[in-house]
Amino acid sequence: MSDHKTPQTRILVHGASGRMGQALLRLASERDDVVVVAAVQRSQPAQRVVDGVAHFAASELHGAPPFDVAIDFSLPQGFDPVLALCEERGAALVSGTTGLEAPQLAAVDAASQRIPLLWAANFSLGVAILSELVERAAQALPGWDCDIVESHHVHKKDAPSGTALALGASAEHGGATPRYASLRAGDIVGEHLVQFAAPGERIELVHRATNRDIFARGALHAAAKLAGRAPGRYRLRDLLA
Ligand code: NAD
Repeated sequence: MSDHKTPQTRILVHGASGRMGQALLRLASERDDVVVVAAVQRSQPAQRVVDGVAHFAASELHGAPPFDVAIDFSLPQGFDPVLALCEERGAALVSGTTGLEAPQLAAVDAASQRIPLLWAANFSLGVAILSELVERAAQALPGWDCDIVESHHVHKKDAPSGTALALGASAEHGGATPRYASLRAGDIVGEHLVQFAAPGERIELVHRATNRDIFARGALHAAAKLAGRAPGRYRLRDLLA
């Protein structure tokens, strides 16, 4: 519970009715340093106020109350309006929405001249470390085959996952040429296998997310750290301390 002695970061949750949005709302209510002032989803909410939080449809986005940071876990078609709103309000944006098109990623770079912004394909500490290990392995294993296999629940829309592509970028940075395979099955939260193979031997680096709370916690932590910073494009590792 908040004692209101420390200022709370005011958060707008975008994509509030989704799997990630629900985790964000639940975990935000357990923290003292943030308060959710608005929850936005694609369609009209069944209830206007839930547990003290005002709910809005995406069409009403511009009527949202003042906020310091928007946390966006929606879908690519929802991303442009929330980015525009943050720029209009001079608010920060933390987004984990994957499957963004190249022009949307370019818009992220452009907006970071005006607002503090963090877009990350994965908000878990474990994947941040895996990414470093993959780059190191790729550097140490020139000429080895590099394959990235990602598995997610059947509702996931984009493939390969944003995390697989980010891990692939790390492998490329280390000199490898990764190939991708995607599996969609059951309720898998997220698994990423990065395999390096040569004749007679194989290395497998694996991350398994068993609960999406890890992503929501990472995003809330980043939001609290990002509020009030200078405009710029931040990385999760800049905000971990
Ligand atoms: P979901 O389908 O359960 O929820 C999507 C939410 O977005 C819903 O609330 C829906 O109403 C809203 N939405 C859809 N279109 C919209 C629009 N045009 N305007 C406003 N809101 C809109 O999805 P999810 O599993 O919660 O995942 C959401 C996103 O987050 C996906 O892109 C997923 O890949 C990504 N994700 C990222 C991470 C990470 O760590 N970066 C982790 C998990 C999921």
